[in-house]
Amino acid sequence: MFIGHFGVGLAAKKADTRVSMGTYFIAAQFIDLLWPILLMLGIEKVEIAEGISKAVPLNFVSYPVSHSLIMVLLWGVLFGLVYKFIKKDTKGAIILALCVVSHWVLDLIVHIPDLPLYPGNSPKIGFGLWNSLAVSITLEMLIFFTGVFTYNSVTKAKNRKGSVGFWLLIVFFLIIHFANIFGPPPPSVTAIAWSGQLQWIFVIWAYWTDKNRTSRK
Ligand SMILES: [Zn+2]
Repeated sequence: MFIGHFGVGLAAKKADTRVSMGTYFIAAQFIDLLWPILLMLGIEKVEIAEGISKAVPLNFVSYPVSHSLIMVLLWGVLFGLVYKFIKKDTKGAIILALCVVSHWVLDLIVHIPDLPLYPGNSPKIGFGLWNSLAVSITLEMLIFFTGVFTYNSVTKAKNRKGSVGFWLLIVFFLIIHFANIFGPPPPSVTAIAWSGQLQWIFVIWAYWTDKNRTSRK
């Protein structure tokens, strides 16, 4: 799952418009932003495995720090606490913590059984929607566009940067998403890790766009 997580980040804006879209993106995608760093450090492991599922040609061999349920709950709490400490906004902190955890819940629905509950010798679970490409794409589009229209309904552009910047961001998401699905599998694990790091572009773009928009209320 890729843009589905960003869809959650967009939709969360409705719950608290004071939190920037950029911060919501970091929260909803937190464990997938952490993952490429852990891959590069050799702490977590992935293999390219064409055909392992219909939607994603990757075997997530080991990723207990970023993607085990216990750790994700912990990351959620930590994320909320740091936000609360910096911004003194309890409501925003709780919503952000839930966004972090939402990532694992969505992953659970789509991943084949590769998600551990805890680090160590844990059973691995996943409902496997990735076994159907059509269902995977439909679900993710539904979540993403719910997010897009929710965000757009609670904020409005202050200037052209806020309107054009927002819609370009959405188009950019869709291009990258479909290139991932229909393009060739990644050439190497290093390439996977680096393209994971490129997600920060979306985060920076989101902060900039959000600055040029304001709450409709
Ligand atoms: Zn993930």
